[in-house]
Amino acid sequence: MAKMYYEKDCNLDVLNGKTIAIIGYGSQGHAHALNLRDSGCNVIVGLRPGGKSWPIAEKDGFQVFSVPEAAKKADIVMMLINDEVQAEVYRKDIAPNLEAGNAIAFAHGFNIRYKQIVPPADVDVFMAAPKGPGHTVRSTYVAGKGVPCLIAVEQDATGKAYDIALAYIAGIGGARAGILETTMDEETETDLFGEQTVLCGGVVDLMRCGFEVLVEAGYKPENAYFECIHEMKLIIDLVNKGGIAAMNYSISDTAEFGEYVSGPRVLPAEQVKANMRAVLKDIQDGTFAGKWIAENKNGRTFFNSKRAQLAKHPMEIVGKELREQMLWKNDSDLDTASN
Ligand code: NAD
Ligand code: MG
Repeated sequence: MAKMYYEKDCNLDVLNGKTIAIIGYGSQGHAHALNLRDSGCNVIVGLRPGGKSWPIAEKDGFQVFSVPEAAKKADIVMMLINDEVQAEVYRKDIAPNLEAGNAIAFAHGFNIRYKQIVPPADVDVFMAAPKGPGHTVRSTYVAGKGVPCLIAVEQDATGKAYDIALAYIAGIGGARAGILETTMDEETETDLFGEQTVLCGGVVDLMRCGFEVLVEAGYKPENAYFECIHEMKLIIDLVNKGGIAAMNYSISDTAEFGEYVSGPRVLPAEQVKANMRAVLKDIQDGTFAGKWIAENKNGRTFFNSKRAQLAKHPMEIVGKELREQMLWKNDSDLDTASN
């Protein structure tokens, strides 16, 4: 079993007298800032003057500064702005304000893994990555619980980086659920692989193909949507609760028989795994990261055209109409969750 840490392994006192600057006040930023403050830490927020998060953070009672000012005041700088803008903000606003003995922290390893950010040797570099959306990080903390977190120490300049990282995660509530030790390379590569092959890339294409096959065969799009898209969550909730056996227990034996007979026909394991290995290789050798960095430099033409194209797909149009008619629609489920 991989090493896990809990509250007894963390000493919040390590953060006494330290100022933590949370850079960004979105999904993760607001949750880290509020939880750390409620845990007794000294928290400030760093944002773009005039940005939309500024008044929100102020309303929550934080002292808000420009990013360079916040970085200057802080002992620990937590980067919670979008991954694709972090490198530029780091270079312009943070690097000039990092002092020896400070710590810079991340909730995702992308920029360290692909060397978009290379911190100086005299600062601590760690990752505190909740395995859940920011709004859940906050709501579970308020309920006295927490979201499991990953810890990674990339650079231990002070000799205290582990203690600081553990204390930070305890401060956001993660130690109540459990802290799993990893590296930023492992976190980044497995995170990208999971979202590309299974969670986002895989699932979306699977649902779309199922929807299209039924509609092309003459079935009503509403039916295709229910069968191939809407029910996905119900099935996954069962897996999440009790594994595949619990899901199989709840579905009919006919469905389970079909799972064994047709699953491998739709996803021939050897071929699918070969495709997945090719994706993994592009993640490991930096090909994917290079493409994504270039896409952002070039105005996101491919990304934006794909997004626009998806919005026009019948599964999205019919899905929206159906969801609007459903009594159980619940906007609070819309927390973003890609990590
Ligand atoms: P988000 O999009 O919700 O929030 C980003 C924040 O950064 C906003 O407050 C925005 O105003 C601010 N911002 C954007 N550009 C800026 C700039 N140039 N200067 C200053 N501020 C700027 O982002 P998020 O989802 O909270 O992601 C933050 C980090 O957390 C990322 O590294 C992400 O990979 C990681 N993460 C996210 C989740 C998740 O579920 N959302 C989970 C784990 C880790
Ligand atoms: Mg992810």
